Amino acid sequence: LELDIEPKSEPLLLGIDLGGTKILAAVANPHGKVLAREYSATPAQKGPEAVVQAILETAHRTLAKAGITTAHLAAIGVGAAGTSNPHTGIISYSPNLPGWKDIPLRDIVEGELGVKTFVGNDANAAALGELYFGAGRGARNLVYVTLSTGIGGGIIIDGKLYTGKSGAAGEVGHMTIDVNGLRCRCGNIGCWETLASGTALAGEARRRISEGAKTTILARVRGDIKRITAQTVHEAAREGDALASELIAQTGYYAGVGFVNLINIFNPEVIIIGGGLSNMGNMLLEPAMKVVEERTFRAGREAVRLAIAQLGDDSGVLGLAALALQKMNEYT
Ligand SMILES: [Zn+2]
Repeated sequence: LELDIEPKSEPLLLGIDLGGTKILAAVANPHGKVLAREYSATPAQKGPEAVVQAILETAHRTLAKAGITTAHLAAIGVGAAGTSNPHTGIISYSPNLPGWKDIPLRDIVEGELGVKTFVGNDANAAALGELYFGAGRGARNLVYVTLSTGIGGGIIIDGKLYTGKSGAAGEVGHMTIDVNGLRCRCGNIGCWETLASGTALAGEARRRISEGAKTTILARVRGDIKRITAQTVHEAAREGDALASELIAQTGYYAGVGFVNLINIFNPEVIIIGGGLSNMGNMLLEPAMKVVEERTFRAGREAVRLAIAQLGDDSGVLGLAALALQKMNEYT
């Protein structure tokens, strides 16, 4: 993959990942090497103005730690969960940030720091991060899927992030899988995320236990069914709990059903799987692969591989650095 950067100058990038509890920032070089990272708590309850101040403060602290000033930065990428418009730079809504409605984050950051700034959705950015620096290196077409509390995604077509008309593309977690299924937090029925996310897995464990299923999961949460998480189920499965293994296999099956749709629609070279559930490895992926083998068109199936995301905890900040890098190259 050509990065279109002159070898003499090494423009640095600042990625700022705005989460509901933490603001993470990192200075990276164009090869994805992190030179400095810093974080602070998100003062989400104090409203947008306080959060913006915390973003700027974290940015300055990260630059100081890297021993650079804004003059060394080629571009900044800033992102949050939720809906942001890459064309206007406005974050219209974020589920983790109360009171955030139509905040022109790009213009605020660009105005305060004096560096070209781009905004993006966190999962979209993570897709670019994997394309430039992780499991997608060398690919031209890929779909990134984060199996986490919910399911997020990012679509790369011909080496570029596909964002759609209004920046809302890539919401793979909300494709309808079961028209008669459970209500999703988005309001729709039977979204993929109601069947293959960590929340879905924990919910299914609670349901089965309430029906009287025998398992060691309950002992792990000292009998408090509300405390069951995907992690609890994973731990139980690793120690041989039959119900836990069955539930993870079922989640893997539904993950696979979503992959089938993505493969048939996009014919990608790779589907990159990130998020907490990707730590379940083959327990989750084998049943997913089986569905892919059974249900995809042959041309799509033969072209694709499933891969685990490689950027881990840096996927947000490196993804946003990659977003800045790609956008900057488009503008120069
Ligand atoms: Zn939904």
